[in-house]
Amino acid sequence: MVGAEVKGVRVGDRVVLSFDYCGGAEGCRACDSSVKGMGMPGYCKEFHARNIFGVEGVYQVVVDDDVDDGEEGSKAAAGLFFGQSSFSQFAVVKGRSAVNVQAVVQSEEELKLFAPMGCGYQTGAASVTEVADVREGDSVAIFGLGGVGMAAVMAAKIRGAKTIIGVDKIQSRLDLAKDLGATHVLDTSNFPSLTSDLTAAIREIAPSGTNATFDTTGVIPLIEVGVRALHANGQMILIGTVNGSMMLDLGMLLNVREVSLRSNIE
Ligand SMILES: [Zn+2]
Repeated sequence: MVGAEVKGVRVGDRVVLSFDYCGGAEGCRACDSSVKGMGMPGYCKEFHARNIFGVEGVYQVVVDDDVDDGEEGSKAAAGLFFGQSSFSQFAVVKGRSAVNVQAVVQSEEELKLFAPMGCGYQTGAASVTEVADVREGDSVAIFGLGGVGMAAVMAAKIRGAKTIIGVDKIQSRLDLAKDLGATHVLDTSNFPSLTSDLTAAIREIAPSGTNATFDTTGVIPLIEVGVRALHANGQMILIGTVNGSMMLDLGMLLNVREVSLRSNIE
């Protein structure tokens, strides 16, 4: 079923679900594509309110648990997490969260391949193309080769990066990364000392350092390695959610000269 005011989607169309944004409501420059350099709904000023917390009362849930605790009957449940709450067979979805792929997807099987496009792939790929702006001939390292990291590998290949170092500790992921464009892979399960061995291994492959390192793991020792591995003016891009605090030695940052630490975490 399609809401009366939803445009661009008809009943039966194949869609990929992504995040919600305001679409250029007054005062939101990020969503306003008429503002120079904008049209970036991922930075919508309402992003967290629309995506992280969900909306109360979207679903009515029948409760009948044979326990006399007053919970029987029907009660309202929250939905629309990320604009869609799609970990279900049926979902109430914001119109902006439904991206119509009817014209490019030929079958249900192809549609399944498009599913990661809704979040992980665009995060990994845009970290390379939009945030770090990787250029032809650059050297990059990507820590963590799940869907986000693999998308970063593919985007770096498309951008013409000369050296693409994939880092993980699962062999099948390392093999796939090679198929998708990694020029080198490093298996950290082989390293007795994660930080010093990984730093040395990256420096062996890219002696003058990486132009950009992408961390999808949130593992603080890896992030520190990523900074150490940077070339002058290099960028450390944090994509993984970091738990805990990190002490970065200012001398170390200065020694690698004008590096930047940026995040692309939703
Ligand atoms: Zn907005």
